[in-house]
Amino acid sequence: MTEINLANLMSPVAPTWCPGCGNFSILTALKQALIELKLNMEDVVIVFGIGCSGNTADFIKCYGLHGLHGRGMANAIGIKLANHRQKVIMIGGDGDVYGEGLNHLVAACRGNHDVTAVVFNNHRYSLTTGQSSPTSNKGTISKSTPQGLIEDPIGVLSIAVSNGAGFVARAYAGKLKQMVEMIKAGILYEGFSLIDVQQPCPTFNKEQDYAWYQQNVFDLPVDYDPSNQGQALMTLLDKDKLGLGILYQNNARKAYHDEIPQLSEKTLIEQFPKEINLSKAISEFI
Ligand code: SF4
Repeated sequence: MTEINLANLMSPVAPTWCPGCGNFSILTALKQALIELKLNMEDVVIVFGIGCSGNTADFIKCYGLHGLHGRGMANAIGIKLANHRQKVIMIGGDGDVYGEGLNHLVAACRGNHDVTAVVFNNHRYSLTTGQSSPTSNKGTISKSTPQGLIEDPIGVLSIAVSNGAGFVARAYAGKLKQMVEMIKAGILYEGFSLIDVQQPCPTFNKEQDYAWYQQNVFDLPVDYDPSNQGQALMTLLDKDKLGLGILYQNNARKAYHDEIPQLSEKTLIEQFPKEINLSKAISEFI
């Protein structure tokens, strides 16, 4: 086993993100969380989607998979069901997870699959030069909406809370320590955890810059009760003021794999018939 530490997570490829991009601090928080949890490299699989966030795949050394646009969650669920002893993390952006992959996100919520999704939410499709995304504000001027976006932003965290996700949190890329704690709590939670990270994109989202976030985020009050689903939904109805912290946590619901009797003693991969040559079977599909 190889312990997770900064040296072992270090990729030979340096991040190519724009100066000032919120992704830098999210990557730092992810690494810090993994180190503080004292996991081994072999215990963790990270699935990356497509987008500026998905490019994180090049900037961290780990076991993982760089999936298709919007399909990272399906990959993550499959990996978890194959070996439910591993911690599975899915990294994607708002366009990837809340747009292209929304159906897979809802499936992850409904099943309470034990996957931690860290969503870099910059309110744009930034890798493809800043088109409006499902979380863009009404009126947003972008290359895809030159006369202003007509739709309202999607209330995706409300969808998660009301469709079975066991853990829903919101963090902000400008608050590193809190982000680390949110990611750690999500990884430790046994069930589906969604951590929406509000991420400034200085290149394609000039409206929601660091100054805007300073005005529009707030820490959830100390008496906030994350087990109260109704309170979480009421808090999420306010799409302008963004509460940071664990919005909802359901400790009573089992994770998907814990509901499958066939997985109670061994993982699926441990039960794979030895007489089948897996490498040969895979090569036939390639
Ligand atoms: Fe970051 Fe935006 Fe640049 Fe992408 S385009 S790297 S999200 S600042």
